Amino acid sequence: MYRTHNCGELRMAHVGNTVTLSGWVQAGRDFGSLTFVDLRDRYGITQLVFNALDDAELCERARKLGREFVISATGVVRERSNKNPNRATGDIEILVSNFDILNASKVPPFTIDDDTDGGDDLRMKYRYLDLRRSPVQNNIIFRSKLALEVRKYLTGQNFVEIETPFLIKSTPEGARDFVVPSRLNPNQFYALPQSPQTFKQILMVAGLDKYFQIVKCFRDEDLRADRQPEFTQIDCEMAFVTQEEILNTFEGLTKHIFNNTLGIQLPDFPRMSYDEALRRYGSDKPDLRFGMEFVELNDLAKGHNFAVFDSAELVVGICATGAASYSRKQIDELTEYVKRPQIGAKGLVYVRYEADGSIKSSIDKFYTPDQLKTWLQKAGAQPGDLLLILAGEEEKTRKQLNELRLEMGRQLGLMKPGDFKPLWVVDFPLLEWDEDTQRFYAMHHPFTSPKKDDVARMLTGDHQTMKDLRADAYDLVINGVEIGGGSIRIHNRELQEKNFKLLGFTPEEAEAQFGFLLGAFEYGAPPHGGIAFGFDRLCAVMNGQSSIRDFIAFPKNNMGRDMMIDAPSPIAPAQLDELYLALKKV
Ligand code: ASP
Repeated sequence: MYRTHNCGELRMAHVGNTVTLSGWVQAGRDFGSLTFVDLRDRYGITQLVFNALDDAELCERARKLGREFVISATGVVRERSNKNPNRATGDIEILVSNFDILNASKVPPFTIDDDTDGGDDLRMKYRYLDLRRSPVQNNIIFRSKLALEVRKYLTGQNFVEIETPFLIKSTPEGARDFVVPSRLNPNQFYALPQSPQTFKQILMVAGLDKYFQIVKCFRDEDLRADRQPEFTQIDCEMAFVTQEEILNTFEGLTKHIFNNTLGIQLPDFPRMSYDEALRRYGSDKPDLRFGMEFVELNDLAKGHNFAVFDSAELVVGICATGAASYSRKQIDELTEYVKRPQIGAKGLVYVRYEADGSIKSSIDKFYTPDQLKTWLQKAGAQPGDLLLILAGEEEKTRKQLNELRLEMGRQLGLMKPGDFKPLWVVDFPLLEWDEDTQRFYAMHHPFTSPKKDDVARMLTGDHQTMKDLRADAYDLVINGVEIGGGSIRIHNRELQEKNFKLLGFTPEEAEAQFGFLLGAFEYGAPPHGGIAFGFDRLCAVMNGQSSIRDFIAFPKNNMGRDMMIDAPSPIAPAQLDELYLALKKV
């Protein structure tokens, strides 16, 4: 038998018992006649002790154990004289009478401890070693528990878990497809699904009524910390539902998983329209852990011969509580921050409400202190606060101020870990106009329905009147991260055809790509809608982390490479031939 107990479960109550533990050697310490070895497994770390006065030869063998050797040790549990209150097993140790080396180990390339010295790529190359570290292991275990709770809740609500194919054809969701050549169908390709969108809609036409799947999706995009080329969604669809019922069902799911994994009871989620979110926070995914709402200053700022404000479409600020103590240098740094090309502001104006009530600003030349005071009052500022103002073209300025608001939230420590502020953002526009290509794009995806009141206008209207069509589309946002999104779908062939047309599809293209869906809509398609949550992201946000990588057992790096198996990689000429492919020089 390899073990009677694991390395995390022995306590004072076990003192006197003879036990066998198996695991990895975390560390060894030598104190003359006594040798200590920390033995680690998934459950914890237990201290082993070898006494040279009892058994010199055994002790000598223990001294030679290297880090990450796999051993199985038998001995008696005894109380430690020097207890370790930071460890669950810290009251006891095992006085070892015998052990076997089950496998030796090379010296690992980085420290296998809660804090590691390994860089990202090294950790990914030796992912099996990184996964031995308990913070990473805990993340993966959390993920498993979360998936289980999702299944419990949804099956409890009569949802059916149904698999949809991975080898499909392209669904336009705004990203590039990964494609797979077909050997049996020369010069033809499958695409890996960006999401099971059309299949889940077809399942509703098929009468399955409530579908879910915890499913891999594939998008060939440039990567960031919160993006992976393959990621997992909790994908859902329901028939005969209104937006209201979908929001309630998935608010229920979110509350259930927070309660059953973290023990946190979330209050009812507020809702905000897309327009309101942009107006108040400059973002369709505002972080509501802190206020710092936008204050529009056009009426107070314009008409005082300050050309920057006079020529701006929008003058808008935020009040940073307690930040009047910011030094000139700190404000210069904020100015540099908003002027970075990624943000693109031209400059930053500040009005400092000193603790003694006096007012200093970077625009003293144009405005009297009394005038500036009205700005501070409008912003609800108190002495000690700092008003930060941007100006320019409306949409851009709001986006820039959103970045500044988030940066101030970080700097002032307002994004508290363990604080969760969910929000439904609703009433998204149906379409997005793109100036460069002079065409509409679907804001969510091409299957999203306009609001009931807008349907007639969509069927009869021309391009120009389409810009303000609203959709029954919604996002769940938690702490400024988009956790999920969905919509009520079009279930009528005529309306779907019209939408494809607005999106620039010719009838032939629409038929070639989505004929199956348009066809299905002619055989009694029920009204339906759904949502998908980003599962990896949800794991990260629930644990207060920004990178999804540590919640994926085998993630890819920024170049989309799996460093452990070294993929992607070339294939043999014969394999290329079979697939009717030829390599191109790069
Ligand atoms: N398929 C959509 C997505 O992946 C979600 C949905 O509309 O249900 O974002």
